[in-house]
Amino acid sequence: MDWKENLDEKIKSILLFDAPMRDYTTYKTGGAAQVLALPENEDQILYLKHFSKKHGLAFRIVGFGSNILVSDSGLDGIVCCLKNYAGLSLNGNKLTAKAGTALDEAARFSAEKGLGGIECLSGIPGSCGGAVFMNAGAFGQETFDCLKSFRVITPDGEIKEISKNEVKYAYRKVTGIEGCIILSAAWELTAKNAEELKQSRLSILERRARKQPLEYPSAGSVFKRPPNDYASRLIDSCGLRGLSVGGAQVSTKHAGFIINYDKASASDIYNLIRKVQKEVYSKTGVRLEPEQILWGEFPKGEDCPRATLS
Ligand SMILES: Cc1cc2nc3c(=O)[nH]c(=O)nc-3n(C[C@H](O)[C@H](O)[C@H](O)COP(=O)(O)OP(=O)(O)OC[C@H]3O[C@@H](n4cnc5c(N)ncnc54)[C@H](O)[C@@H]3O)c2cc1C
Repeated sequence: MDWKENLDEKIKSILLFDAPMRDYTTYKTGGAAQVLALPENEDQILYLKHFSKKHGLAFRIVGFGSNILVSDSGLDGIVCCLKNYAGLSLNGNKLTAKAGTALDEAARFSAEKGLGGIECLSGIPGSCGGAVFMNAGAFGQETFDCLKSFRVITPDGEIKEISKNEVKYAYRKVTGIEGCIILSAAWELTAKNAEELKQSRLSILERRARKQPLEYPSAGSVFKRPPNDYASRLIDSCGLRGLSVGGAQVSTKHAGFIINYDKASASDIYNLIRKVQKEVYSKTGVRLEPEQILWGEFPKGEDCPRATLS
């Protein structure tokens, strides 16, 4: 019997079958998810997690899909998208966000309330869960700076509160939460002048629009910052601005971005990532490490991060 027939009738209203992942990722490309779930509460997330474990299915969590590249051949099993599991609450200086809340909304809300600590994360187009997962950051501020704790479903299916000091975090990296589903994040913010916070948020949004190719689909900076340098500077110095493979292009506005310029396939983007890595290595000796995560089947490569299944 097909495992899909064993799914509880009550959960079927939040499921999509053969859902194109281009609709759930900011690269706007990639194949279909066998099942895409859009849970609205913790019980539904727990049910899907247990169901996939029981049936030996691949289980992936997606927030806003702004840091992943999904292969053209699509994804088996269940993709659980948390964008409908959203909401903010404020208790004193403590801001709590459900995982599917837009990080930018958390930044906007806290600035309006005169609470500082996450205002520089304005404009990052990910979810709060995705931001905790990889310690997203910008303009000298990181998600973990003011983070107090976060709630997760552990790989064993237990719900647990983890304090920031229980995990290791660094630049775009958190260790100690592998296989966990982040349910919510809580920040301890600092009272500041609301007008100044709103102003700094606006200037960040303006700077992003001026410097980044926001008019095209992308997943932001493709590579992590190499020590004492910038990936975009290195790519530029190798003359790779505007380089393209199929419909994928190294942005002419910001060489650290690869954009879906004209109906790029995931393979176009992947092959362009590889080409940039090879060229930069042969011309400068620097190995660029991708920040973006590959989901599904891609040719084997030594250093692109692969999906971690929850
Ligand atoms: C135009 C643009 C600009 C960007 N600028 C920045 C920037 O300035 N700084 C920066 O750090 N990033 C930036 N990014 C990248 C991206 O927005 C961040 O990495 C963001 O934190 C990803 O969140 P997400 O919800 O989209 O994660 P997704 O892409 O959906 O997922 C990424 C990874 O996180 C995991 N994940 C997501 N949610 C959860 C959860 N609730 N529990 C467990 N695992 C989870 C997924 O399984 C996956 O492995 C940019 C992207 C774009 C498109």
